[in-house]
Amino acid sequence: MQLDLFITAPSSAPALIGLTVKLERPGDHCCDDRVVIRGSKGPHAAASLHCAGCGRHRGSLPAAAIDFIIETRQRFGAPVITIRKREAEAL
Ligand SMILES: [Zn+2]
Repeated sequence: MQLDLFITAPSSAPALIGLTVKLERPGDHCCDDRVVIRGSKGPHAAASLHCAGCGRHRGSLPAAAIDFIIETRQRFGAPVITIRKREAEAL
């Protein structure tokens, strides 16, 4: 019997793959403030963020953030989503 050591919780991230969102983080700039949501291969993130201009990795999104974006889009249509760093983290 072979055990699967990489069991992960089901993710809703595929619903947002390819979506462009705005990223506002002080001191963290690339060629554009827009990032594209892509899949994540890491165990700690449900999705990754890549610069819409050059494709550079800009960060990761946890499953809770993915669920929040999906719920927001379902309630309000498809507004432009902006991801900001919490004030406590910006210090
Ligand atoms: Zn860039």
